[in-house]
Amino acid sequence: MERDARIYVTGHNGLVGSALVRELQRRGYGDLILADRAQLDLREQTAVRKFFRETRPNYVFVAAGKVGGILANDSYPADFIYDNLMIAANLIHSAYERNVRKLLYLGSSCVYPKYAPQPMCEEDLLSGPLEPTNQWYAVAKIAGIKLCQAYRRQHGCSYIAAMPTNLYGPYDNFNLNTSHVLPALLRKFHEAKLADARQVTVWGTGKPRREFCHVDDCVAACLHLMDVYDSEEIVNIGAESDISIRELAELVQDIVGFQGEIVFDTGRPDGSPVKRMDTSVINALGWHTAIELEQGIRATYDWYVRHKADHRG
Ligand code: GDP
Repeated sequence: MERDARIYVTGHNGLVGSALVRELQRRGYGDLILADRAQLDLREQTAVRKFFRETRPNYVFVAAGKVGGILANDSYPADFIYDNLMIAANLIHSAYERNVRKLLYLGSSCVYPKYAPQPMCEEDLLSGPLEPTNQWYAVAKIAGIKLCQAYRRQHGCSYIAAMPTNLYGPYDNFNLNTSHVLPALLRKFHEAKLADARQVTVWGTGKPRREFCHVDDCVAACLHLMDVYDSEEIVNIGAESDISIRELAELVQDIVGFQGEIVFDTGRPDGSPVKRMDTSVINALGWHTAIELEQGIRATYDWYVRHKADHRG
């Protein structure tokens, strides 16, 4: 991307979007296009088309979306499928209409089947049934991938799609009803420490295994793909190592410094038993993770403590 390019980062208040903006600014990109929810509702086709007409972006990052953890996905299936379908369709079609040079669409590891062979490769997409708790979100994200591929095939658009694993970092959602596991655990252990509580409850059996990639590593991958990759196949962004939820809880407990015990609420769903990404495609393109999990969680915990007065939820 040329330094004077007009770059539209959608979802710039979110975990990925905010990290993208920080890194683009650090690299000297001065012409960023940003619009928050009050300025532009990405579900509204007419508004999105008008916004593209007026702002004329050269590059677009689709980091906007309705996202959430296992409980939010299970509780609001209509919001998860509708919002994400509309956002993908409106942004991708408007990008085509206004001749955007390149677009990067962000999906998720949950687009892969529940029982996909591990680690999950790009070609495992649509090879089996989805995990029921987040199938609504996954179907919308798969539609976004297919939109990118269809516009590339029919119109020659340079639209690429990346599938990040579970991400974490500053500006994450720390609301216990809607967040993913890592921010939830940071908050639960922190509040338990302050309250001198005897125990912290972790959902499920603690047995599922997940990967966690720091959002700054994911952003480095996205910018690298924008530079070097231009093809129809989706590309995984993985953490290159995984951990059980029990081990994660123990690590967070240690980082936060909580002295009590951990109990598991097995009445809560586990979700997929394991989600590990094969990263050989992106590794061959020259990207690797740089932020080790413990170091990344410590930095995120510091951020949480410093900003928790104004965090959402
Ligand atoms: P997933 O990766 O799509 O399943 O989404 P989550 O990040 O929400 O959950 C990952 C795993 O962590 C699941 O097995 C959850 O049951 C488990 N988990 C344990 N405690 C919590 C918690 O407090 N919040 C969330 N969201 N998940 C938790």
